[in-house]
Amino acid sequence: MSSWVYLVEVRDGATPKEQAKAVGRLYEAADVASRISQRELVAIKVHVGEKGNRTHVRPQVVAELVRRVKGSRAFPFLTETSTLYRGQRGNAIQHILLAHGHGFSIERVGAPFVMADGLVGNTEMEVEIPGELHSRVQIAREILAADALLVVSHATGHIGTGFGACIKNLGMGLASRAGKMRQHSSIMPQVDPQKCQLCGKCRKWCPKGAIEEREESSYILQEACIGCGQCLAVCRFDAIRYNWGKESAQLQRSMAEYAMGALVHKEGKCFFFNVLVDMTKECDCMPTAQKKILPDIGILGSTDPVAVDMATLDLTREVGGKDLAALSHPHLDPMVQLRHAERIGMGSTSYRLKRID
Ligand code: SF4
Ligand code: SF4
Repeated sequence: MSSWVYLVEVRDGATPKEQAKAVGRLYEAADVASRISQRELVAIKVHVGEKGNRTHVRPQVVAELVRRVKGSRAFPFLTETSTLYRGQRGNAIQHILLAHGHGFSIERVGAPFVMADGLVGNTEMEVEIPGELHSRVQIAREILAADALLVVSHATGHIGTGFGACIKNLGMGLASRAGKMRQHSSIMPQVDPQKCQLCGKCRKWCPKGAIEEREESSYILQEACIGCGQCLAVCRFDAIRYNWGKESAQLQRSMAEYAMGALVHKEGKCFFFNVLVDMTKECDCMPTAQKKILPDIGILGSTDPVAVDMATLDLTREVGGKDLAALSHPHLDPMVQLRHAERIGMGSTSYRLKRID
């Protein structure tokens, strides 16, 4: 069965104010308010961008959602989880301070920031899912305590999964630290000594101290590596490899199953927004200012996390000739995550697009 996906277009280079107006129109047209009741705790999942990132979703867009949720006399809060790697978002304190620095403060957005996985990323609950790889997944506990969930995902390319949008924001973004590690466990990278420049950046970012400097090049200790993929992401010399096809596919399938876990007990209480603005080759975890690789398209919304991601790929292909994943990481097949999510019953790759004026 097809799902509805709503689209409010924005002009290329739309201001944050224009984007906020667009998300407000979408909220109304899709009747998101009908998913929220008075006095409910409403989690708004965001990604505030790593330090140095400039292309994350604008706080004005999130502020508009907060305003709308408050209109239902419910209690919205912004939420996120700690990262595996050593950036500025590895624990609650640094993460919240960075969020404030990027404009996601209570004064600007109108809602508090509550880390869904506690102070250091281990506040979790195990939930049962009808998965093919996992029958139980570890999810950030406060998400399970929320009554309703709005997910705001920035569509970008992604080094491990081809592209990242709603499924990734749910699956990786709402897993506890242990859950994230479990998803990444299929990735076992190696350094190519011919390409390594011994710059040391991968060692600085590795959360497990699994990278040693040896005479000719850096070297990854396979027994210490947790497969988080950060070394892959930060190496500027393309010196870190893994088995893209096989390992990426496994990561995507696992991520889709975790996404399903993040949605348990929230039937009829979720809505998913994908922001197709400032789309970049890498995700917002990159600690750098990236250039956008596509013109801005607009904001998509759906009650179906699979359909909204499918529409994201289709619309970017329409505008850019190739979809966001093919433009970013052409050797990866992002359909693995969508097909797997569909197979386990999370949603549908078949959808009908409704354009909102
Ligand atoms: S980041 Fe890349 S080039 Fe630098 S030390 Fe690590 S593998 Fe070598
Ligand atoms: S070596 Fe392993 S643990 Fe360290 S950054 Fe790379 S993938 Fe992550």
